[in-house]
Amino acid sequence: MDIFKTMEKMGHEQIAYFCDPHSGLKGIVAIHNTILGPALGGCRMWNYSSEEEALVDVLRLSKGMTYKAAIAGLNLGGGKAVLIGDSKTQKSENLFRSFGRFVEGLGGRYITAEDVGTSMKDMGHVRMETNYVTGITKTLGGSGDPSPVTAYGVYIGMKAAVKQKLKKNSLDGLKVSIQGLGHVGTYLAEYLYNDGVELFVTDIHEDAVENVVKKFGAKKVGLEQIYDLEVDIYAPCALGATINSDTLSRLNCSIIAGAANNVLKDSERHGLEVLKKGILYAPDYAINAGGLINVSNELEGYNRERAFNQAEGIYDTLMDIFRRSERDGIPTNKASDLQAEDRIKQIGELKSFYLPYKKSFKIRG
Ligand code: NAD
Repeated sequence: MDIFKTMEKMGHEQIAYFCDPHSGLKGIVAIHNTILGPALGGCRMWNYSSEEEALVDVLRLSKGMTYKAAIAGLNLGGGKAVLIGDSKTQKSENLFRSFGRFVEGLGGRYITAEDVGTSMKDMGHVRMETNYVTGITKTLGGSGDPSPVTAYGVYIGMKAAVKQKLKKNSLDGLKVSIQGLGHVGTYLAEYLYNDGVELFVTDIHEDAVENVVKKFGAKKVGLEQIYDLEVDIYAPCALGATINSDTLSRLNCSIIAGAANNVLKDSERHGLEVLKKGILYAPDYAINAGGLINVSNELEGYNRERAFNQAEGIYDTLMDIFRRSERDGIPTNKASDLQAEDRIKQIGELKSFYLPYKKSFKIRG
């Protein structure tokens, strides 16, 4: 890979490689854009088959974080870290403290958090060496599990989509299918049940399904059947890439709105196909921003009520995206990208003149 050409093309500011033979740490931090503020993004530990694969992943993920923070109205930039290794066998206190020391060395340009393959416990070890970490346990002053706020944001986002597409102010009586009843999916099911929604659910874990069937009167459906149901909303809350050439022809819903990341297998192509099919797609990184909103709240001293209040902003954010999509005849995922880019540009211009005092660090606009 021609690294500088790639950075220029994707818009990255910095890539930092870390190696510590004593702890076995091999990691890369990619800082995509810091116009809005310090780059915040999780630390993923994965057994990458090559260094290039790790680099490609961290570049892609860090760019995604720039858009997610920007659309959520946060004063944060986009960054991500990847650690090369097996998260089941190669984790240690040493490794994460070593990573924490490297993060500290970046002087606050990058703030880390948990991600695939890392846990709150690991972030606790990072915290021993640096303050530039979020997603730590409540006992350490952190925010704990972000899923309730993510689920709340998805629920609020569904209301916006229903207003836009079905011209209704309430979810009462609607049919919603949820794919994946993990942390987010189960909380989401509860919000929807309380609003009088008829639920259809699936998961590879039988006990997760039974729990939601029992508590919220949901109907259990098969793993594949979920795509063929006639429902108002399909909520992907498990895996990415579930909107693809196979599933699109089968979907019989008015709205796609869920927590999963990278829902569109090919964002250009499938975003356009969703639009042509007359389905309203709530862009993944805009509707699932509750998790980021939640951890970002730690930077000013965590306040759960404030995090939930802020997640309510997802309603207006999505309405703006839907209006732009409708006005310009473009897919909602494209409209969302443009909204995020506009905000970064405008705030960047705002900062172009000198202020004779140092603005205190604030992550919200
Ligand atoms: P989770 O791992 O707790 O739950 C995922 C669930 O999906 C599990 O119960 C799993 O058994 C199920 N699943 C896996 N494969 C499936 C399949 N083929 N069909 C049906 N179910 C399947 O994860 P989570 O924290 O609930 O997050 C759900 C999604 O939302 C993920 O894509 C995640 O990246 C995204 N997300 C989560 C948060 C958060 O705050 N947790 C924030 C933003 C985005």
